[in-house]
Amino acid sequence: MKISPSDIGLAARVVHISKSFGVGQGAVVALSDLSIGIRRGQFTAIMGPSGSGKSTLMHVMAGLDQPTSGEAWLGDTEITRLDDTALTKLRRRRIGFVFQSFNLVPTLTARDNILLPFELDGRTPTLDEQGWINTLCDTLGLTDRMTHRPHELSGGQQQRVAIARALATRPDLVFADEPTGNLDSRTGREVLTLLAEACSRFGQSIAMVTHDPVAASYADRTVILADGRIVHVLDRSTPEEISGFMLAMDRAS
Ligand code: ADP
Ligand code: MG
Repeated sequence: MKISPSDIGLAARVVHISKSFGVGQGAVVALSDLSIGIRRGQFTAIMGPSGSGKSTLMHVMAGLDQPTSGEAWLGDTEITRLDDTALTKLRRRRIGFVFQSFNLVPTLTARDNILLPFELDGRTPTLDEQGWINTLCDTLGLTDRMTHRPHELSGGQQQRVAIARALATRPDLVFADEPTGNLDSRTGREVLTLLAEACSRFGQSIAMVTHDPVAASYADRTVILADGRIVHVLDRSTPEEISGFMLAMDRAS
């Protein structure tokens, strides 16, 4: 695979990725010869029915799982060639994660949760990074919550701490897996607005897995999977357009 000019500006890409679980008769094909680029500075949504391969794709792109064949790149690094130690280091430095269940450390304050990626990397933030973290906490409305522990925060506040943690190291790419799944719809919309702003204002690249057309409508682009393949890519669309498209897909299958 040669790097072509159209690949410049991709935060991540997978090239002819296939992934099977198990062997022989019982094998399940989760991803089937799939290629996609995640554009730098964009908010990309990944949608598709349950079992279509969304989580598997995210795990392969984040180096959490190896494909059966094909290549996965993060920026200009082919991560499918890295060993576990190199992958762990790369994930800590260059990838951020936001999960449905927030995944904060219950014994740590909001501040210490946000600083955890630096702690795990064995360093303290530089002055410039401290400034960035302050900007983030300010933007996310967390400044007066920094000494609270997760159980003293609402769901929306916990997810905002998780977003601050994911953005703190200015990673090449943030993966968000159903980030609004445990939030009420109003708080969910606030979180989606913050994710969209992280892209539009700060140039962050985000890939979000969701089954919610409202969540996907905040994205610049929505990639739709079915049976481990990309069946459609939509530019920014309304929730109605996205759910209409999903319904039509359901009927066709
Ligand atoms: P989605 O996130 O879109 O619901 P997944 O990526 O989780 O889909 O799964 C895609 C397919 O791969 C499904 O058929 C699922 O059952 C299968 N699969 C996923 N993970 C495993 C696993 N660890 N072992 C066996 N099969 C798996
Ligand atoms: Mg899944």
